[in-house]
Amino acid sequence: MNLILLGPPGAGKGTQARRLQDRYGIVQISTGDMLRAEVAAGTPVGLQAKAVMAAGQLVSDDILIRMLADRIARPDCAKGFILDGFPRTVPQAEALDGMLASKGLALDAVVELRVDDAALVDRIAGRFTCATCGAGYHDTFQPPKVAGVCDVCGGTTFTRRADDKRETVAARLAAYHSQTAPILPHYAAQGRLHEVDGMAEIDSVTAALVALLDGLRGRPA
Ligand code: ADP
Ligand code: ADP
Ligand code: ZN
Repeated sequence: MNLILLGPPGAGKGTQARRLQDRYGIVQISTGDMLRAEVAAGTPVGLQAKAVMAAGQLVSDDILIRMLADRIARPDCAKGFILDGFPRTVPQAEALDGMLASKGLALDAVVELRVDDAALVDRIAGRFTCATCGAGYHDTFQPPKVAGVCDVCGGTTFTRRADDKRETVAARLAAYHSQTAPILPHYAAQGRLHEVDGMAEIDSVTAALVALLDGLRGRPA
């Protein structure tokens, strides 16, 4: 199963993609995580991306398209993948169509997680991650069961993203509305676009996604 999870920053794409990955045995591909790894490693791509990401803008299509083509060519993608954070522009969506067609692959669904802008600011400002295993948390909405200890791995070190500041959120939302939202009609025209209410609680959003995806899988081709 090949999926795209679309939605503004903070919509819950990463949170839900990690759950779907475990449930369906497909890999989560987060271009944001890949870029942050490049920045941390100080690679040429990382050096180019760092300031752009800190300003809440989008990294160039050239870099992202090359990065994604390399990633989906890896063997762990054979069973399927969930794209989280890609595509983010119409040229990226068009390049993805070409990449998949050349491999004889197709998208099973593109799911838009709908969340009001006002809720996103609080979600992003409270977001943090386990430095050891990458599990995602939120100060208010998804705190660890024991404060300061990761539920998944027992780790006690957590990180916050450099771009998860209230000041940067407005720029990221503006980039979403001007550059990413225009890809929704692209997928609607292909008959692949589905909407899920991302304002609900985390478990309810997962249940809605699973109901949708199980329904699509059960449908004759
Ligand atoms: P969020 O989960 O908050 O939406 P991401 O982790 O997906 O954020 O992305 C963080 C930043 O990385 C973006 O603000 C952007 O600068 C860059 N980025 C990630 N994916 C892409 C992409 N497909 N195209 C361009 N820039 C990207
Ligand atoms: P994205 O990958 O779309 O940027 P995340 O999955 O990282 O979003 O979620 C952003 C923050 O909001 C995280 O701290 C996460 O714990 C929290 N969160 C995710 N989904 C929900 C939800 N349905 N309700 C409340 N908080 C949520
Ligand atoms: Zn952990």
